[in-house]
Amino acid sequence: MKIKKVVVIGSGTMGSGIAAHLCNANIPVTLLDLTTQISEQARDRIHKSSPPLLLDRLKINNIKVGNILDNFNEVKEADWVVEAVVERIDVKHNIYKKIFKERKKGAIVSSNTSSIPIKVLSQHLSEEEKKDFCITHFFNPVRYMGLLEIVKNENNDLEKINSLKKFCEIELGKGAIICNDTPGFLGNRIGVYAMQIAMTEAFKMKLSVEEADAIFGRPMGIPKTGIFGLYDLIGIDLMADVLKSFIKELPKTDKFHEVAKEISLIKKLIETGYTGRKGKGGFYRVNKNDGKKVMEALNLETGEYYPCKKIDIKSEKVDLKSLINRKDKFGKYAWSVISKIIKYASSLVPEITKEFNDIDEAMRLGFNWSKGPFEMLEEIGVTNFFDKIDEYQDNDFLENLAKNKNEKFYGERQKYTDIETLGKVKKTATSVDGNSSAQIYRFKDYNVVEFTTKANALDYDSMDALKKATDKPLIIINESMQFSAGVNLSYTMDFANKGDFKSIEKFIRYFQETCKHLKYSDYPVISAPSGLTLGGGFEVMVHSNFVASHTNIVVGLVETIVGLIPAGGGCKEMLARWLDTEEAKNDSNYASLKVFNIIGSGKTASSPIEAEPLKYLKSEDKKIMNRNSLLEVSKKILEVNRNFKPPSETMFKLAGNVVKEEMIKVLEKLYNDQVILDHGMKVGKELANVLSGGDTTIEKTLSEEDLFKLELDAFMKLIETKETQDRIKYTLATGKPLVN
Ligand code: NAD
Repeated sequence: MKIKKVVVIGSGTMGSGIAAHLCNANIPVTLLDLTTQISEQARDRIHKSSPPLLLDRLKINNIKVGNILDNFNEVKEADWVVEAVVERIDVKHNIYKKIFKERKKGAIVSSNTSSIPIKVLSQHLSEEEKKDFCITHFFNPVRYMGLLEIVKNENNDLEKINSLKKFCEIELGKGAIICNDTPGFLGNRIGVYAMQIAMTEAFKMKLSVEEADAIFGRPMGIPKTGIFGLYDLIGIDLMADVLKSFIKELPKTDKFHEVAKEISLIKKLIETGYTGRKGKGGFYRVNKNDGKKVMEALNLETGEYYPCKKIDIKSEKVDLKSLINRKDKFGKYAWSVISKIIKYASSLVPEITKEFNDIDEAMRLGFNWSKGPFEMLEEIGVTNFFDKIDEYQDNDFLENLAKNKNEKFYGERQKYTDIETLGKVKKTATSVDGNSSAQIYRFKDYNVVEFTTKANALDYDSMDALKKATDKPLIIINESMQFSAGVNLSYTMDFANKGDFKSIEKFIRYFQETCKHLKYSDYPVISAPSGLTLGGGFEVMVHSNFVASHTNIVVGLVETIVGLIPAGGGCKEMLARWLDTEEAKNDSNYASLKVFNIIGSGKTASSPIEAEPLKYLKSEDKKIMNRNSLLEVSKKILEVNRNFKPPSETMFKLAGNVVKEEMIKVLEKLYNDQVILDHGMKVGKELANVLSGGDTTIEKTLSEEDLFKLELDAFMKLIETKETQDRIKYTLATGKPLVN
């Protein structure tokens, strides 16, 4: 079965997301709704979406739009019809009647329902029609969420379902997991339970919303939105509807009911329009006080707002064992939440799936957890877990485990896919070493380095691991969301606060040395980035000999935003790329001015398609839809480059003062237009000095070391200024840049 054309019916949040993602995969797609105006508005939303749903906004018109009265004949040509209309069974049944009347023989029809069982959806279909009908449950936002749950019915043509799964894996890049027909399937059943237990325990233990979010977040390997932040993001009213549907669908004996009881404060919030970010506020809100924006949190007892408090739990590391053993309220909360999630998830095996591992993967792909409940159990340790747990009745999984106390119960990972993923391969390493910032996995023919810090920020140890791992071909890749958000600014600021600029200089020198080493080592180095690949992260990537990039990547040099300039060879490599163009051969100012514009404005690209024109990525770099495939593709690159020879050193001819003057003119205009202020001017001048080659002329040749030196000097001058330090402090405290 080949899928060459798709029709999506229903152009709301999900239908538009699915259509946009099909467009990303270059599949012709038509989006139909009740009226063409609704689907046109959906297309407009796709175009303006942020983060963008499209890899390439210019392709927006590849999504055809129409309405279900005049344009239903589109269905006749489709190989796959996706229904994503409102969650109402009567509406869905009516649509299926129409679809099955029109569809091409054998075309697949699927529903995106999140809660209606396939038995009910397909109850009016003939046996023949049921063969081609399934649920394809995508998550929002479709481009970014890795999980796709596929639910079969007993009549399905299995070959067809498997080829749909393959299509969704390869063309759409999804982690496609086949699920049983049980309420909420895997992701939402466990994910919503986890949210509810995190919330109800916070109420019970009288934690504040900030305290609960500080624990049910990074320390547990869960996104930092936490529980109350996530409730606000999803919509408090929508969550109430989700709970109602679970209450209706699940048997009375299910433990879910214990955590789904109505909470009067939440009822009041919904009634008064406090539905979260889309409403007047929720558990958090932004309020204005004396003209200043203040982030406030809701007191769970009084229902009053107060200015948010920063919670320091004095442990940022995801170390579950020490977290649950803490004697304070944070430890008690963490244990209570984690143990109940483990108990609930394990009580559902084999009912919701016979592969408990699929539950972990669903949590990883659908909720961005770094570990699912069973991996948490593995990390805590079986003996430890049973020493702490009070009861686990009617739970075959735990009862068996309690008997055999098998610490190695976990076995294989990522069974849902045939792809040789990093998660699977890591388990087969011949040895593992590294340090607190990166792990080195050693195999017979190659090494893997995986960064392990928060957002994979880079420090001395990260560089050390990279250097150490170049004794064989090296693949730099990671399972967590980001490749690297850049150099660890708080590590750098710790030195700056003590006035220890010598140590910063030493670190930057080492960073440069390592990057150069990656480029010229005897063995090939491959970077396989996904997510944030910024600043120092970009510099690691750009010094690699090959790149296999995920299509969801945010890439760029953003140092000027915090009052710095790239000093790990980012200026140097960008110059090298732009000097290698036809235009640069005819105009000696061209490359310097181009790079000045790109780095000066801290430009980022949010897909490989946006990255190429900026030369953040090259046309020969591999661009891959499925993140799971990054390792396989990297290994293939190694295979075809068995006779790899390191490149010869890059030399630079730059125009010195001649081009610097041009850049200063640009800066003066920006200054006069008040786009930049005094410090921006200073940063701009330092950048201009580096990109013009400093004290040089077009006749002279500069080496990479010359450029590294220019970068380092400029970086040191800037980091020593109070203005740059203030910018970094602001960014560290808020996660945002200080404008101007
Ligand atoms: P939505 O309310 O944003 O959009 C539904 C769209 O369907 C609307 O544009 C509406 O005009 C259209 N519609 C209604 N009746 C129609 C008909 N007869 N013919 C054609 N179009 C019709 O809803 P959504 O959030 O996109 O959800 C769609 C489906 O996906 C639901 O089944 C929902 O349960 C499921 N789902 C939603 C999410 C989510 O996060 N929103 C996630 C996963 C699954």
